[in-house]
Parts: sequence; C-alpha cells; structure tokens
Amino acid sequence: MTDLLTVEDHRARVLAAVAVLPAESVPLSEASGRTLAEPVLAAHDLPGFDNSAMDGFAVHFADFEGTDAENPATLRVIADLPAGSSDDPSIGEGEAVRIMTGAPVPADADAIVPFEDTAGGLADSLGTVTVLRAPAASGVFIRRRGGDTRAGDVVLSPGERLGPFALGAAAAAGVDTVAVTRRPRVAVVSTGSELVAPGRTPGRGQTPDSNATLLAAVVARADADVELVDRIGDDPAGIDSVLARAARADVVVFTGGVSAGAYEPVRLALADRIAFDKVAMQPGKPQAFGVLDDGRLVFGLPGNPVSVAVSFEVFVRPALLALQGRASVDRPLARLTASESWTTPLGRRQYLPAVVDLVAGTVRPATAGGSGSHLAASLARAEAFAIVPAEVSTVSVGDPLDVMLIP
Ligand code: AMP
Ligand code: MG
Repeated sequence: MTDLLTVEDHRARVLAAVAVLPAESVPLSEASGRTLAEPVLAAHDLPGFDNSAMDGFAVHFADFEGTDAENPATLRVIADLPAGSSDDPSIGEGEAVRIMTGAPVPADADAIVPFEDTAGGLADSLGTVTVLRAPAASGVFIRRRGGDTRAGDVVLSPGERLGPFALGAAAAAGVDTVAVTRRPRVAVVSTGSELVAPGRTPGRGQTPDSNATLLAAVVARADADVELVDRIGDDPAGIDSVLARAARADVVVFTGGVSAGAYEPVRLALADRIAFDKVAMQPGKPQAFGVLDDGRLVFGLPGNPVSVAVSFEVFVRPALLALQGRASVDRPLARLTASESWTTPLGRRQYLPAVVDLVAGTVRPATAGGSGSHLAASLARAEAFAIVPAEVSTVSVGDPLDVMLIP
C-alpha cells in the first residue's frame, strides 16, 4: 500500500509537464470556448454617455420644487430623443424633452420621469406633459457614463474561458478580436483485442469499445479538438504505428493495456518512455503518464469504462485545461450529505459515480451494484463523482462528502 502514489502527487506530475500552448488572435465569432491569453481592456467607457434608463422625459429636477399631487408640474415638451440620436437640445425652465431608453440625456437635464409617472403617458407626449409623480431625487433613471466599465479597465483576464457572457462583455467593451491559446489536439486510442465497434454484435469474448466514444466526447467538452480516434488490438507493435498516425496531436490518450496482465500493449511498448504507477484511488489505480521526446503528452488510462471516466476528470481534463492556460482547471465541488450508505476500499480515495440533489443537498451512488468500474451502461446515470477519503471504509447516511459535479 505504501508504494501507491497519492492522487495529488500524480496530478502534480502531470500538471508540471504541461506547457501552455501558443496564443493566436481570433475574432469574437470564433472565440467561443477558447481561453484568453491576454487581458481584454475596455476600448471606451461603457455606457459611453449618460443615458436614459426609461422611456419618458428628461427634466430639470428643480422644476418640481413646490409641486405635489394637487399641484402637479406641467412642462412643455420641446424635443424628442429616440435611441441612437446624438442631439443635445438645451432645455429651459419649465421644459422637458421626450426621451427613449438608451438615448443620451441632454446636458441640461438631471432626471428622467418615466411615462408611467405622467398623466398622458405616451399619448400626446410631444405637446405638454403633466407629471403626477415628481422625480424622487436628482439623477434618477440616468445610467451614468462609465458606470459599467471605464476605458482601459480590465474586462476579462488571461486564463478566463470565453463563454457567452464573457464574449458579450468583450463586445460591449468595444473589442472585436481577442488573443487566445490554441486548442489542444488530442488523439484517443482504445487498446484491447476483445474490442469491437459499437453497433456490432459482440461474439463470445468481445465487448463494444465504449471508451473511445466517451473520451472523444469529454475531450470536446474540455474545449480541445479530437485529432484522431483509433482502436488497436493487444499487439504492442500497434502502439508505435498509432503514435505515428497521431503525429500532430499534443496529447495521446490510450485506454487499456496498462496494468499487470500478460497482454498489456501500452505497458509493453512504452515502459521505457513513460512512467507506470499505481495511484491510491478507486477506480483508476494503474496510471501511465509521460512526455515523449517530441513533446507529446501520453496518458495510459486503465481500460474499465468507469476508470476511464474518473481518470479523465482527475488527470486528463486538468491537463487539457492547463495546456490552454486556464486559470482554474478544477470541476466545481459541492459539500453534500450521503442519503445512502456504501462501503469503499480502505487506503484508496474513491470517486464514486453519483446522483446528486442540489436542492436537498444530498448525494447517492448512481449504480446499484456499488463501485464496479466495469458498469459502462450504468455510468449514464452519473452526474457527479462522490469523493470518499482514503481513510474511510464506510459511508453512512448523513455523512458529509465532497462531490465533484460534472455539469
Ligand atoms: P485493461 O485495462 O486493458 O485490462 O481492461 C480492463 C477492462 O476494461 C477489460 O474488461 C476490458 O475489456 C475493458 N475495456 C478495455 N478497453 C475498453 C474499451 N475501449 N471499451 C470498453 N471496455 C473496455
Ligand atoms: Mg486490455
């Protein structure tokens, strides 16, 4: 048991081998899911000018002194400002300007009266306006220049993923091109002479290759490009030919063939090039990782489908995000309470496929059969991994656990 690496040690080794991929400049329309390499600075103030927050009238606050519900102010409407207008009409005492949301507030006005607070509303609003509810204070319903961000301010920081909100923020800040890191190119290779393509009826001794499909999908969701998906048998000679086919990849992920059996092609072919270790986790104990002479990162994950899913989340996904220069490479954790009990192997940290109820704050196993790493179909029910510390052997109802959420 002492020869087991901790999850942290193995993960630290992996992350230490990662160098951030080079940056390139792309238009916002192509930047979705990319990682910023340089900050996005606001090109101008936002809002760019004081503007109206309501459809209504731009007024002088002072004109409402001494008015009340019995003696309302009636103002002469001397101009009309739709959104997009650049006019700045001067407003005398007792005058108002009709203004729409987003239009620049005239320099002479210091408050906005919404239509809702006038006698006539939108009807006849270009003649005079009788204000039933005077503005509460000077400045009401005016969105101030620079109230969101100032020219030169940092709107987005390096390491941020450009999701829809971030992309919208960059556009609002007047930016149309961003510096982002290149997407990692990943080759996914299943090993195993028993594997057949999904959809083919497996004969005795055969099983569908589900790892390749799973890995291609999770790689894409980690904002990386799937360069190659391949499947080879257990002849170690196949490893170097597939590495040649994956020449353009930054990362090669093998599944299967890394443990202690007699026919382990990844181990047999790569033992002198990458490290083969045992990690104190369940599932996922046998792990291989290294950097080839040409700089490609190589992962050898154990073949069981649940082991693949867990190993990807714990080691490969963080590496793919680190390659992109992502500031945070971790899944969100929730602290939830077990609503069922189960047993786990002492001395290894368990990552149990789990179902969560975030409203109730509870977690339970996704698979009735417990932690079987071969339960490829049952894995579909998992939406999280419950993390059980190595020193725990029984999880009881009511125990608090960290849970890795896989949204
Ligand atoms: P291995 O790590 O090669 O000893 O494989 C462990 C178990 O995982 C065996 O039962 C394999 O048949 C199964 N397995 C390996 N690769 C795959 C795959 N690509 N898809 C589904 N099951 C697999
Ligand atoms: Mg195998």
